[in-house]
Amino acid sequence: MLLAVLQPGGDAATALYIVAFSLFIIGIKRGTHPTTAKQGNLIAAAGMAVAVAATLLLDGMGNWGLIALGLGVGTAVGVIASIRVQMTEMPQMVALYNGVGGGAVALIAWSEIRNEIAEIDAGHISSVPLDILIPILFAAVVGSVSFWGSNIAFAKLQDLIPTKPLAVPGQQVINGVLLIGILAACVSIAVGNDDPSQLTFIGILVAAGLLGNLVVLPIGGADMPVVISLLNAFTGLSAAAAGFALDNVALIVAGTLVGSSGTILTMEMATAMNRSVANVLFAGFGGAPSGGAAGSGEERPHVSIGAQDAAIKLAYADTVVIVPGYGLAVAQAQHAIKEVADELEKRGVTVNYAIHPVAGRMPGHMNVLLAEADVPYENLKEMEEINPEMGRTDVAVVVGANDVTNPAAKNDPDSPIAGMPIIEVNEAQQVIVIKRSLSPGFAGIDNDLFYEPNTSMLFADAKQAAADIAAEIGNL
Ligand code: NDP
Repeated sequence: MLLAVLQPGGDAATALYIVAFSLFIIGIKRGTHPTTAKQGNLIAAAGMAVAVAATLLLDGMGNWGLIALGLGVGTAVGVIASIRVQMTEMPQMVALYNGVGGGAVALIAWSEIRNEIAEIDAGHISSVPLDILIPILFAAVVGSVSFWGSNIAFAKLQDLIPTKPLAVPGQQVINGVLLIGILAACVSIAVGNDDPSQLTFIGILVAAGLLGNLVVLPIGGADMPVVISLLNAFTGLSAAAAGFALDNVALIVAGTLVGSSGTILTMEMATAMNRSVANVLFAGFGGAPSGGAAGSGEERPHVSIGAQDAAIKLAYADTVVIVPGYGLAVAQAQHAIKEVADELEKRGVTVNYAIHPVAGRMPGHMNVLLAEADVPYENLKEMEEINPEMGRTDVAVVVGANDVTNPAAKNDPDSPIAGMPIIEVNEAQQVIVIKRSLSPGFAGIDNDLFYEPNTSMLFADAKQAAADIAAEIGNL
């Protein structure tokens, strides 16, 4: 490809594609660190703009009116959605965008099949060469699974359907039969059986869509970000396959980048929860309330305090660790918490933040929020780094976090989150938990931490509580 550009008269589109890929790769690299992530996003977006421009330069671009309409509608939807979306709604937005990508690839595969048939031998899919047919079938199946699976993920995260695992009896058998049927239909087309009305192909699209729905429905809400990341990888792979069918280098490279980075992210998230991807997909975890406050409705004894008591505990500590979670994001409490930290630091208290890899609803959720509040990056401590320090910590303040601090993950082998690594706040001398009630977190299970003798519950909205504590410390 490089040679094609370097030759005299080498084409401009190819040169622009190389620029676009370079920008994608630099963007992803910059995205790996909170201080450069914003810039990385802008660089990758610029890369995408270059790739779109390069594609418009290709020979045979057809209907300019439709292209302009598509670009206009896409840009308007993207701009309005990104302005309106709340930080807490970002995972479902990613699910929706990812689904649209997979759906687009499935439609491209279908339209490409129709083109090929029209060009080669009207009405006969089997006459399409295998090196084009196989990627088209792959793109159609995986793109369709991704589109319909992502829609369910979106609906669960947006509370349009229940987040708890929804499964019918014999679910795995139904999925298995669907998968075998899809593969058999693909093989039947590939070995030369005619499909004059494209009915088999349309059947493959429909069956793959059904499979996408049925695979995601039994997965609980708490696992949805992992599922979205996996479906994201699927969309990337299907786009790369479509690139092979269309002989388009941009799709191959961009699809491979999305496919590989999505796969790595999926593995890392599963590792952070100490579970295999297969367990996430097939265990039906996350969403079903069980036990204690979550299940029986009985309230167990606990200690409840106010902002003033919390302020006193914190102000006279030497070391404080703040553990943010999803509730901090919902309450937008990051600035108020930074004020608490500032007040404490003025008094000589050492304040650090413990970041669990799956705190919140997407990877890096807490890092982004705290960076927005100008919390110095060096004060953010990864779980592995902070856990050994917990025994020497005077006060751990849990702000709208729940599952990621639940000691049942370590102590109760029967807990749905057994084995998930946690921030070991229960090892600290004292624990203050700021949340509105004793309700469970996203995994739907009670948290024994709330009832431990060294834990004090501060029932309030995280932002209000943090603002009150900061004011109280200031008054001491
Ligand atoms: P949780 O969902 O476990 O708990 C959040 C808590 O925040 C709730 O218990 C809620 O309690 C409290 N809360 C909600 N609103 C407010 C508010 N306005 N003020 C104060 N508190 C509030 O969150 P965690 O961050 O601890 O755990 C994340 C969960 O998401 C885990 O189950 C994890 O496995 C899952 N997950 C995350 C992924 C990621 O990439 N980040 C990936 C996969 C899964 P109350 O209603 O009483 O206020």
